[in-house]
Amino acid sequence: MNKQLQNALNALPENIAMYIKPIVEDKHFGATISAPQFEQLIKQTGLTDKQLRLALLPLAASYSISPISKFCVGAIARGLSGQLYFGANIEFLNVPLGQSVHAEQSAISHAWMKGEKGLQDITINYSPCGHCRQFMNELSTAESMRVQLPEQTEKSLQQYLPESFGPKDLDIDSRLMDGKPLTHVSAEADQLMQKAIDALNISHAPYSGSYGGIAIELNTEGESFYCGAYAENAAFNPSLPALQVALIQMQMAGKDFSTISAVALVELKSGTISHQACTQSVLDALALDIELKYLAI
Ligand SMILES: [Zn+2]
Repeated sequence: MNKQLQNALNALPENIAMYIKPIVEDKHFGATISAPQFEQLIKQTGLTDKQLRLALLPLAASYSISPISKFCVGAIARGLSGQLYFGANIEFLNVPLGQSVHAEQSAISHAWMKGEKGLQDITINYSPCGHCRQFMNELSTAESMRVQLPEQTEKSLQQYLPESFGPKDLDIDSRLMDGKPLTHVSAEADQLMQKAIDALNISHAPYSGSYGGIAIELNTEGESFYCGAYAENAAFNPSLPALQVALIQMQMAGKDFSTISAVALVELKSGTISHQACTQSVLDALALDIELKYLAI
């Protein structure tokens, strides 16, 4: 367990810590809390659903990697299954700020990569920035999802984003997380590239047609592959690159980026943009000296 998470756990009120510790300290803990675990925690702590989500926020924020701002943002997204997924911001030294990951994007892509098809709600320790409100407006559940902040009454996403611009304005029917997979294959792919193709097949890129996926291999024992699918946005700039989505999965699994041994990127030849140069520049900024395996299909 990383030191920040241990500190956040130790700082929880004792009547919450005693029940959450066995979950977080379990070696299989993946920064998620299942619906039955959450129900049980409500019974044990006597907190309401909202109070418990707010109480867990410092644990999510402890995953923050923020060497520039030192501003730790945590988010907890609840999937349609009822499972809760932690997320936290990531900043990268030596690349433009546009490569940063916001906590909401982290929690959402965490839920997405673990198979959720939409979100019920998201709980965040600071008000969502305009970029994140727009990012969330791309979701399959953008019309129904709720946003909870500390010391605020719960509001709908649409209350946070009045007169919104979104996929409908561009006559696009597909939505982020809507669970309609593509069927691309390649005979040239090795195991790592095959995992990248699997990620491409759930990516969301209806505007550029530049569907893409990333697979990361680690040089550690145990779970050694992490995948990320590209998440495009109707407003273009809030789109989340596949590499960042894969790095989020590592971050939430408590893996250090220095353990990356190989990265594969796959994208479509028919796309109107390419992810290759930006992916390489972020990898270079991580100072990993890794050759990016690349395939266009
Ligand atoms: Zn944001």
